[in-house]
Amino acid sequence: MIRFTSLGSGSEGNALLIEAGSAPGTRLLIDCGLPVRQAVARIEARGVDPMGLDAILVTHEHGDHIGGVMGLARRTGATVCLTRGTHAAVHVRSTDACNGVALRIIDSHTPFEIGCLEVQPFPVPHDAREPVQYVVVHGAIRLGVLTDLGMLTPHVERTLADCDGLILEFNHDPELLAASSYPESLKQRIAGRYGHLCNRDAAGLLGRLDLGRLQRIVAAHLSQTNNTPDHVFAAVKEVLDGVPDNFHLATQEEGFDWMVLEAAAD
Ligand SMILES: [Zn+2]
Ligand SMILES: [Zn+2]
Repeated sequence: MIRFTSLGSGSEGNALLIEAGSAPGTRLLIDCGLPVRQAVARIEARGVDPMGLDAILVTHEHGDHIGGVMGLARRTGATVCLTRGTHAAVHVRSTDACNGVALRIIDSHTPFEIGCLEVQPFPVPHDAREPVQYVVVHGAIRLGVLTDLGMLTPHVERTLADCDGLILEFNHDPELLAASSYPESLKQRIAGRYGHLCNRDAAGLLGRLDLGRLQRIVAAHLSQTNNTPDHVFAAVKEVLDGVPDNFHLATQEEGFDWMVLEAAAD
C-alpha cells in the first residue's frame, strides 16, 4: 500500500507527501515550495511527524517547488535528492543554500531507493536546468507524478503507462490564458514547449492511458488565473465519456487529503 497527500498544489507552492511500508515505514516529500513553518504545520495536520521524513525529492529549481526544501531539510535532517543541473541552479543563486543539508545528486534516468520505495526519475521539457518528475514504486504499486512540463514526449508517456495512481498537471485553459492580463512574454512561456501542460494535452494523455489500472487520478498545478475546475472537467469530458469517479482536483490552499493505492488484484 502507498498513501499520498498534497500539502498544496499550484504556482504558489507545491509539496506532495508519500508514505509506504509498515511502521516506521518510509516517508518522502516531492518538492517543498511552501514556507518551512507552513510545510511543517501541514505535515503535522496530516498526522505525520516531520522529523520522520526520510527524503525530499526535488523536481526543479523554480521557487514554487524548491522554496522551502533546504530549510525543511535542515530542520528535519531529511536527505535532499536533486539532479546535478538543479543543484547547479541552486548554487548559482546562493553558494551557501545547501549548507548543513545532506544532498544526494541523482541521475535523471537512473532509479534509486529510499527505504522501501524505489524512485524512478524521468526528464521533462520545462524551462529549468535539469527538471525531472518521478514515479514512486512500492512492490507492484506505481504512483506517477507529472507537473511542470510544456509538452508530452514519448518517453514521458512510456514511463507513465502502467501507473496505479497519477498526479497530472492541468495548468491552464488556452483560451483563458490568451485572454488573461498576463504580459505577452509570460503567456508565450506558459503555453510554450518548455512551459506548462494545458487541459487539452493532459486530458489527451488520460485518453491514451489504461484507465482500468488507475485507481486515482488527481488534476494538479491548476493556474488560479487561467483555469477553473469546470474547464478541467470539460476537457476531460471531451476525451472520456464523462468525469470518472476517481478523478480529483488538488488545490493551492488544501492540496488534497490522504489517498491510498492498493496492489492490484490479479
Ligand atoms: Zn511549478
Ligand atoms: Zn516550474
